[in-house]
Amino acid sequence: MVLAEPVLVVFAGIFGAMLGSFLNVCVYRLPRNESVILPRSRCPGCGKPIAWYDNVPLLSYLALRGRCRQCGARISLQYPLVELATCMVWAGAVARLGPSLAAVSAAVFSTLLLGIALTDARHYVIPDEFSLGGLGAGIALSMAPGGISPLDAVIGAVAGFALLWAVKAGGDWALARGLIGGEELGQVLEPGEKPASLGGGDLKMMAMVGSFVGWRGVLLTAFLGSFVGVLVFLPLVLLKRRAPVPFGVFLAAGAAATLLAGPAILGWYASLLAP
Ligand SMILES: [Zn+2]
Repeated sequence: MVLAEPVLVVFAGIFGAMLGSFLNVCVYRLPRNESVILPRSRCPGCGKPIAWYDNVPLLSYLALRGRCRQCGARISLQYPLVELATCMVWAGAVARLGPSLAAVSAAVFSTLLLGIALTDARHYVIPDEFSLGGLGAGIALSMAPGGISPLDAVIGAVAGFALLWAVKAGGDWALARGLIGGEELGQVLEPGEKPASLGGGDLKMMAMVGSFVGWRGVLLTAFLGSFVGVLVFLPLVLLKRRAPVPFGVFLAAGAAATLLAGPAILGWYASLLAP
């Protein structure tokens, strides 16, 4: 436990909130293939551009009481919640790891996971900017001292992609032979479209995860993600509620747990094997 200067933790939190504001733009625009730079943010209600003083993370939402200044349309609570989450992630990383590249790596990774969970939950899409862009960031950050080595990052990326590729190949094989039905996965297919067990976004996402947490982290992420996914979706399947499974959301939860408690969980598991 490193005790960072409180002022550094505050600056990290402010930076995190600003990054969260940008993440909101990315989550809204990337699945629509829109530029995240231009045009400036507009109110979805009246279409008027949002002034900078109405676009201050967290504070503007509170000052405007969650409504557009021009037309009074409600602003989604998702915006301040994402800004609060990234604020706490960046402040927490610096408080726990000090002003270090390890803190930057943990905070960047968590921010990417949040973006992936949101786009996958809302649009069933994992943008390449998060998965492949994040893979580049993970490998670049591994070159800094303290974390996993660049070799471990590359091995982790290959392991993440290969593991999910194998799961997808097995799942697609079972689908093609009618052992499981695409409708059980909640998929709505276009005519002539083949059902797929996993999307390509999940594979690229796990390559990104592997570049941050290595191959052991990939295995733990896949295990925890599948475990949470089954816990959440088994009741829905039993109730015959058909909803597409945003697997990336559960993988993101598994990866976040791996980041926070991976060494502790793996150490506990090793102690069970060799008491
Ligand atoms: Zn408006």
